[in-house]
Amino acid sequence: MLLLGCHVNFNKDSQVLGSLEQALSYGATTFMFYTGAPQNTVRGKIKLDKVEEAKALMKDYSLDYSKVVVHAPYIINLANSKDQEKYQFSIDFLKQELKRCEELEVFQIVLHPGSHIGLGRDVGIQNIINALNEVLQDSKVTILLETMAGKGTELGVSIDDIKEIIDGVHHKKHIGICLDTCHLNDAGYDVSHFDEILDEIDEKIGLSFLGCVHINDSKNPRESHKDRHENFGLGTIGFHSLLDIVYNKRLDDVPKILETPYVDREFPPYRYEIEMIKKREFDENLIENIKKQVL
Ligand code: FE
Ligand code: FE
Ligand code: ZN
Repeated sequence: MLLLGCHVNFNKDSQVLGSLEQALSYGATTFMFYTGAPQNTVRGKIKLDKVEEAKALMKDYSLDYSKVVVHAPYIINLANSKDQEKYQFSIDFLKQELKRCEELEVFQIVLHPGSHIGLGRDVGIQNIINALNEVLQDSKVTILLETMAGKGTELGVSIDDIKEIIDGVHHKKHIGICLDTCHLNDAGYDVSHFDEILDEIDEKIGLSFLGCVHINDSKNPRESHKDRHENFGLGTIGFHSLLDIVYNKRLDDVPKILETPYVDREFPPYRYEIEMIKKREFDENLIENIKKQVL
């Protein structure tokens, strides 16, 4: 079965069951969510009964709960140690996120490696390694380092960056990679030759480390270092290149997650994008057609 999902909400009442129901309503077979607002660290208690209900419902649909993914909030920055207090806060908050993942029985969490904010690449990377070694000490959850577009002083922009971090992490069982097609494009990779990217990962790190792929088109040309996602097929990557990635045999067991923008910042596009992907037929009027159906 095609392992294709999208980013969904998580609210404090329905929790992961609500997230799953939303994903199912889009025709998704997996999903990704933040355990609270991505831009802050306010987090409520995980309701274990909702976890059980979600697992049971997925089983009814013959879907695999073990492929569900959490995304860490982007205020966590493990690269910047200039303010020791903030650095330690990022580490402690990430530890708590891992605990929440354990309670949710979600065993992979996507993390932006961090931005060095003037400390320089090498210091930033060492900070990330040190932080990960502390955080992962007795973790049951795998941290998937996301490849970034290279906005500002972001790290993890190349496969070599990611390799350097993973090489420094002692707990190899609980570290991995999340590719983001928009970020790869904006960082300078040619995602229309995705097998070459997978080959490079396999040679340098090992393809078994790949735990998730974010499927997004990009509003900007290759190597623009911008990180602005576009709807499936409507950006500079285009429908056929993205479709090839979704259906790449080497990614069969890897959850592929859409993080494409809401239409008019209001309407989730995922049901329509997933439908288009399943039909394998490009709808150049995707946005107009979504509006027609929701308005
Ligand atoms: Fe991300
Ligand atoms: Fe992403
Ligand atoms: Zn992005």
